[in-house]
Amino acid sequence: MPKPIEEIHFELRKKFKGSLLRSGEPEFAEASGIWNGMVARTPGLIARCADVADVQAAVRSAAAAGIVTAVRCGGHSLAGFSTCDDGLVIDLSRMRHVTVDEKARLARAAGGCLLGSIDTATQQVGLVYPAGVVSHTGAAGLILGGGTGWLMRLHGLSCDNVQGFTLVTADGSVVHANARENPDLFWALRGGGGNFGVVTEFELKLHPLTSLMLSSGLCVRDDIPLVLRYWRDFMADAPDELKWNISLVLAPDSEDLPARVRGRPALSESIVWFGDEQKGRKYLDHILSIGHPLAISHRTISFLDLQTMADKDFPHGRRYYTKSGFFKTLSEDSIDRMVASLNSIPSPRTQIELAYMGGAAGRVGAHETAFGDRSAPFVMNLLADWTAPSEDAANVSWVRSTFKELRPAMKPGVYVNFMSGDEEDRVKEAYSARWDRLVAVKTHYDPDNFFRLNQNIPPLHAEKTVSRGPNL
Ligand code: FAD
Repeated sequence: MPKPIEEIHFELRKKFKGSLLRSGEPEFAEASGIWNGMVARTPGLIARCADVADVQAAVRSAAAAGIVTAVRCGGHSLAGFSTCDDGLVIDLSRMRHVTVDEKARLARAAGGCLLGSIDTATQQVGLVYPAGVVSHTGAAGLILGGGTGWLMRLHGLSCDNVQGFTLVTADGSVVHANARENPDLFWALRGGGGNFGVVTEFELKLHPLTSLMLSSGLCVRDDIPLVLRYWRDFMADAPDELKWNISLVLAPDSEDLPARVRGRPALSESIVWFGDEQKGRKYLDHILSIGHPLAISHRTISFLDLQTMADKDFPHGRRYYTKSGFFKTLSEDSIDRMVASLNSIPSPRTQIELAYMGGAAGRVGAHETAFGDRSAPFVMNLLADWTAPSEDAANVSWVRSTFKELRPAMKPGVYVNFMSGDEEDRVKEAYSARWDRLVAVKTHYDPDNFFRLNQNIPPLHAEKTVSRGPNL
């Protein structure tokens, strides 16, 4: 008897316009890898869809066969959800077209777009869509989980800037979700992740912007807690045009830094100002007068340069592990613990990323989107980044133990896109007061939990659940 995956292949071959890749075929090895090298799986079939009809065919065949199915846009799921062993991968990488309506300040982006696909198209007419900070990240996974980035204080999260979704649901139908059509689904898709179907098109709100001011510096020793405290107190009243990000790291081995500092614990800060240059200069100079930052730089750069400047720092295929949380404020104890943890960082690229939300993102009400409550503005992401499998245990254990120490001071809740694949127990925590409403929407659109390779919201009476994690 043929295996179900072979039956799906046989059936899809008759009508599929995209490509169907199986083990041993050209392109399969490259297509089966995802961004996080910790997650190595071998799918039974990768269906690279060319259009919406291909997505419908793939969903219908896989749902009928009951085969485990992953959905992939940019393949950047930190948790590794966009691949699977033996099952089907619905790969949207051929669906990356973007059309821009300059006058209406709207873009239509296909479900496989990378952030760079959207930035390149919208910048042609001087417009931007608020999204993440690395251009090779997939737009679909990022938007559906929420979407934080440089512009979130000025214009809100990515999900706050979506006007409508078109998706293929678990029964293969094409459904629209916006303020008028299926408003509950529209609400759920803005933060609820990939639980409800395969989004084939996003209708995105755009804003005018072409360039900005960027400053950066690096602080060491006693300046680390000093700047952290200042940042904590300063950001609550900062203007929306200001974004000040901090990473606690080991200083890079760079000639721009004195030899005595290289490889030592450091606070790296990037400050962006969107708006009037004179006003911005005052803010940027003021921030860089706190402590004694080294390697100071001030630049006016294009939006595309901002969006791509971190691309090389997070390449595909390295090993990554993360844990994240929100803080209402940063207590002295939390700051001390963060600083102390730098002394045991196991890899030169492992870091603590800190961002302050607030601004336009912070003003969206807790019930307006499934992303929910934004009242704890400090977002912390412990990101381990290393190369050799022999260093897995040290990096994973550093993240886990640092998280455990800081956890009591965090506000319950977590951003689903900064979770790993071994945090199933935190999904309910992520959605807390929105959980029952999300379960109701999920039960309506995906009663059998076909879309379950995600930070999963199981429908009522679900039999199918998947517990997975990186290959630890
Ligand atoms: P994929 O791995 O392709 O998909 C992840 C999940 O999203 C899938 O399992 C599926 O459930 C769902 N999905 C994907 N495509 C679709 C679709 N078309 N329809 C329905 N469901 C779909 N997050 C931020 O908020 N801000 C950042 O600045 C940021 N920077 C990042 C930088 C890097 C280098 C990385 C690796 C991640 C970053 N993230 C950021 C986290 C990011 O939001 C998530 O990793 C997100 O899942 C990436 O989306 P993707 O489309 O590449 O994911």
